[in-house]
Amino acid sequence: MISMKYQSTRSAAVSASSTAAVLQGLADDGGLFIIKNFGGFDWQGTLSLNTFGMAEKILGALLPDFDAMPELVQRAYTGKFETDELTPLVKVGERYVLELFRGPTSAFKDVALSMLPQLITAARAQEGVTDEILILTATSGDTGKAALAGFCDVPGTKIIVFYPDEGVSKVQKAQMVTQEGENVCVCAVRGNFDDTQTGVKKIFAAGVPKNCGVRLSSANSINIGRLAPQVVYYFKAYADLLHSGRIQTGDAVDYVVPTGNFGDILAGYLAKRMGLPVGRLVCASNRNDVLTDFLRTGTYDRRRPFYKTLSPSMDILVSSNLERLLYLLCENEEEVAGYMRHLNEDGAYTVPAAMREKLHEEFGFGCCDDAQTKETIGRVWKEHGYLMDTHTAVAWKVAEGYRSNAPVVVLSTASPYKFPAAVLSAIGGDTDGDEFEIMARLHEMTGVPVPQGLATLQSKAVRHTDVIDREQMQAYVLGKVEKWN
Ligand SMILES: *Cc1c(COP(=O)(O)O)cnc(C)c1O
Repeated sequence: MISMKYQSTRSAAVSASSTAAVLQGLADDGGLFIIKNFGGFDWQGTLSLNTFGMAEKILGALLPDFDAMPELVQRAYTGKFETDELTPLVKVGERYVLELFRGPTSAFKDVALSMLPQLITAARAQEGVTDEILILTATSGDTGKAALAGFCDVPGTKIIVFYPDEGVSKVQKAQMVTQEGENVCVCAVRGNFDDTQTGVKKIFAAGVPKNCGVRLSSANSINIGRLAPQVVYYFKAYADLLHSGRIQTGDAVDYVVPTGNFGDILAGYLAKRMGLPVGRLVCASNRNDVLTDFLRTGTYDRRRPFYKTLSPSMDILVSSNLERLLYLLCENEEEVAGYMRHLNEDGAYTVPAAMREKLHEEFGFGCCDDAQTKETIGRVWKEHGYLMDTHTAVAWKVAEGYRSNAPVVVLSTASPYKFPAAVLSAIGGDTDGDEFEIMARLHEMTGVPVPQGLATLQSKAVRHTDVIDREQMQAYVLGKVEKWN
């Protein structure tokens, strides 16, 4: 059996049940909740189940305190994705693409953010919490919409999403401001993403008044409830290769993951710890290659320029979930706390050579700049007739430079229609006009269907028009809380 108790990566004394960990998000000492004993999971039996069955079994094992996991899984996913498989595996040339973007908002975050609201409401009931849960999110685009769709009309929850008025694309903005639901609220903040994020952090630090009837929570991937659902698709891809006769049980499969906050790839590592024969996990970065450097040298150094790239969801310098990997490799809370202190105070830390070697056994790495990203999209389209988004292209390019005898699965994290201008120009199309015109032209040129949620966007009514200054964010939240009561 997988161990029942979650604990902080920074202190064994800070522990929690899986329901409490989901409700709390971050541990009290600033660490992340993790378990270390993954033994005894029936991974082989799991491979014969359908995707929903796999999700029930894997989530039931990772989050053992939830009373009714099968119902939660059904409620989270039934009818929400383009296919009941949730995450189809497609053969492209010699490799396989694991399409994680077939959910309601066409980004891979749907897989986790469809499930998280069910986990939070169940945890709230089981823990006897009567306050409503208010999710606060600052978004640079994808997370906000996926969280809105996930939490829309989920009883016992409310959600406020702040986005920078000058920081999101036209399509992303349209996705958010047309969001339906009685419990959702979307507000633009004058400034950039950092301004918005800082504002939200301040609200969390200040808290809301006691007895106001709500409790704040986050939909960020520091929450173990957002990580656990991502373990499922690693099993699902492996099962697909098995059932198509491409591999036999026990054969290794490599996974190449376009990485930002290190959540997606860490879920792959959890799958491996649970017994799945994962070969290498290959971490693919864009020009912001802080993780690639770390994996190569053992030094994590965030003191470097920040680049805006064509794969914006991977533009990140501090990858929070790496802390969980460090812990799993050393199982020493003081050591992890030390690394995080150095990161905070000096902007860098170095792990010992022994840990670097362990990393090299389990992980590959590589990076890819914008020019290579575009070249890859164009070439894969021409050679294989497969259209990929900019994030997926980073992973594909890194996969090409990576030698392996095992089958290689490239994780695809967004629909090409979420980043239509870059994709259209990569295949040689004319990118005049606004994003909706570009989407239409991309469809004309390729024949690849536009996902339903994006195709119907332009005809939807705008429901959220608030625009505020950063200094007004806290008052805005308190005003909403009052109004809702
Ligand atoms: C969030 C995101 C990623 C990065 O995933 P992490 O779990 O943060 O590593 C990659 N691609 C897309 C499209 C994303 O939205």
